[in-house]
Amino acid sequence: MTRIYNFSAGPAALPVEVLEQAQRDLVDWQGAGLSVMEMSHRGKEFMGIAAQAEADLRELMQIPDTYKVLFLQGGASLQFAMVPLNLLRGRQKADYVNTGQWSKKAISEAKKYCQVNVVASSEDRNFSYVPPQSDWRLDPEAAYVHVTTNETIGGVEFDFTPDTGEVPLVADASSHILSKPIDVSRYGLIYAGAQKNIGPAGLTLVIVREDLLGHALPITPTMLDYRIQADNESMYNTPPTFAVYVAGLVFQWLKRQGGLAGMEQINIRKAQKLYGLIDSNDFYASPVAKNNRSRMNVPFTLRDPALDEGFLKEAKARGLVQLKGHRSVGGMRASIYNAMPEEGVDALVAFMREFAAQHG
Ligand code: PMP
Repeated sequence: MTRIYNFSAGPAALPVEVLEQAQRDLVDWQGAGLSVMEMSHRGKEFMGIAAQAEADLRELMQIPDTYKVLFLQGGASLQFAMVPLNLLRGRQKADYVNTGQWSKKAISEAKKYCQVNVVASSEDRNFSYVPPQSDWRLDPEAAYVHVTTNETIGGVEFDFTPDTGEVPLVADASSHILSKPIDVSRYGLIYAGAQKNIGPAGLTLVIVREDLLGHALPITPTMLDYRIQADNESMYNTPPTFAVYVAGLVFQWLKRQGGLAGMEQINIRKAQKLYGLIDSNDFYASPVAKNNRSRMNVPFTLRDPALDEGFLKEAKARGLVQLKGHRSVGGMRASIYNAMPEEGVDALVAFMREFAAQHG
């Protein structure tokens, strides 16, 4: 078996141990005589799988009992609509911080349902930093404050937890959830598409404070009402059963890495190796402000963009793939989520050093 090092922003690499466990279970899950894909979602086997996944996630993230954990579908993109549909609670406006392409999408969707106030933006410098909270113009009447705590395309990560007082803080944490411990109690709602740090695409995680449920706009489709999903334990309809099962395997793998505190230490080391190399020469450059450099998505440019194609080709020949940056940023982007082994980062750093020496 030869595994490549996959630096894709998502769907992204999964831990080999998880894939191997899924492979062992594939045809006959734990002696049940069938695969997880074939199980009734209301049968005791799958109910057990889902309950264990939730319990492990609650333990990993230390989610307080006053929060519901929902396993939904529709990706983080559907949350761009579900958040305003559910959280306006009779108010007319919501505050959004604009830190990049994903914030912008959340903002344009929310505009269909309420008055959106962009309380801070980093568009003035091509989304290369997080505006400090002292510059935000928060509205105490806002229904909630929405932030994108890690911008996957720009590689910009919040280095602080915003303080929004009584106004619920809502975070799109798609591309860095589970990469470090966070204090869930500081948030009203956290959501994430699964296909980066949680598991396969098709599953969306929502963690929401219970008192925010039950106020959906009357036009809200049944399936998009958090209260209904919570009351039905995310099984109002058929959930993405196999994705929930694989996510559960990822949660158990995370526990074996020392939980989120252990994972964070590994992620810090991996990110330092890569940024260290980028900063150590004038061949590579990072466009992101130092204190907001993402540990998960690392965009970087080559001194001469004419070398980009050769870089990607030579990298691929070494099994280092999916390094092309997003067109809005240019250059390269290495996504180094939890499941990217440290050896993968080492291999990338070694290649980058050689490439710079050859072409610098
Ligand atoms: N938000 C962020 C920060 C993302 O990175 C992505 C996907 N790359 C999305 C939202 C959209 O997620 P999905 O494709 O699951 O709808």
